[in-house]
Amino acid sequence: MAVPLFDADTPLAPLREEILARVSAVIAAGRFVLGPEVAAFEAELAAFLGVSHAVGVANGTDALAIALRAVGVAPGDDVVVPAFTFYASAEAIAAIGARPVFADVDAATRNLTPETVAAARTENCRAVVAVDLFGLPAPVAEIRAATGLPVIEDAAQALGARCGKRAAGTLGDIATVSFYPSKNLGAFGDGGAVLTDDPALAETVRALRFHGSRDKQTFDLVGYNSRLDELQAAILRVLLPHLAEWSAARRAAAAAYVAAGAGAYVNLPEVPAQLTPAWHLYVVTHPAADALIAALNGAGVGARGYYRRPLHRQPAMAPYVPAGLELPVTDWLAAHNLALPISPVLSAAQAQEVVTALAAAAEPTAGSRATPAGVENPDPAAAVAAGPGGA
Ligand SMILES: *Cc1c(COP(=O)(O)O)cnc(C)c1O
Repeated sequence: MAVPLFDADTPLAPLREEILARVSAVIAAGRFVLGPEVAAFEAELAAFLGVSHAVGVANGTDALAIALRAVGVAPGDDVVVPAFTFYASAEAIAAIGARPVFADVDAATRNLTPETVAAARTENCRAVVAVDLFGLPAPVAEIRAATGLPVIEDAAQALGARCGKRAAGTLGDIATVSFYPSKNLGAFGDGGAVLTDDPALAETVRALRFHGSRDKQTFDLVGYNSRLDELQAAILRVLLPHLAEWSAARRAAAAAYVAAGAGAYVNLPEVPAQLTPAWHLYVVTHPAADALIAALNGAGVGARGYYRRPLHRQPAMAPYVPAGLELPVTDWLAAHNLALPISPVLSAAQAQEVVTALAAAAEPTAGSRATPAGVENPDPAAAVAAGPGGA
């Protein structure tokens, strides 16, 4: 049986009637922008996460631009951001006229560390964007303490994760999330939110999402038209009560991979002791990742590489990349990662099927000790056997 890379439909099926009823009610009420559904969702999201303020915006990319503006990042300022993440994490910095400064990441967590931030930091740095990559929280408090800079937590992939008792999205001065349909809390279209405990930051965010105005008469800032709409908020209100259970199910799926012995064939992600990940994506590494992906796909198992061209190698980011910049861990991860199927409904039997396909395609222990250094001297045992439809 084929195992798809994602399954967003199955968890939604039992909620279909309730969603349709709430959508009908919004249409009947005829209020579509910044009405009671958005206000209620903002309150419910803030309560769920344990944060004082949640402000709905149009998408996770706008959320980042607005959060950066709110903490005072101005045109010409430098902002540290990991080079191994989705493009929007850095794009939002450039879009407000600031300069992304690309930092390397840790090989095990794939996130920034205080050390990689220190190595990248320039004199002109005004803030750090720390991404909770693949749903594993970044060491936001440590980066904040080490740098003294405001940290914007890009939690687009991490709703449902925790660091100790604190929810991802509450770890920095301000955080951003996305409700893009494939995210862990996905709307039926675009959506996002900015989260903060700071009332002054929240007030600025609310102004920025509405053209820089507090009262719709006086325009204090050049802002954005960036609102979460009522239909999306109404849908998200149906989904939010299920997020905790879906996140736990994603962790159970990851545990099923471990129990089925996936670690004999690929490097599994490492989870520092205090972290509870949300596994937006379950990304492993292997020295011959592309060949392994082809073999898995040939066996009916969804798998793909993420961020194969890291941000410091993207054409639009060239103006921000100093000559000779070396980010070896980012480059290694970009070339050698592969996402395995993950969803709240991935069963232990499906995880076993994926591991069986891995076993047919990859030599045991092939990936288990591969490190970024290993790329220079690949383990000969790492060769991918020609599997069904394989490499
Ligand atoms: C999805 C994502 C974004 C952007 O969110 P959109 O809602 O698609 O604009 C930003 N950062 C990361 C890490 C993401 O995964």
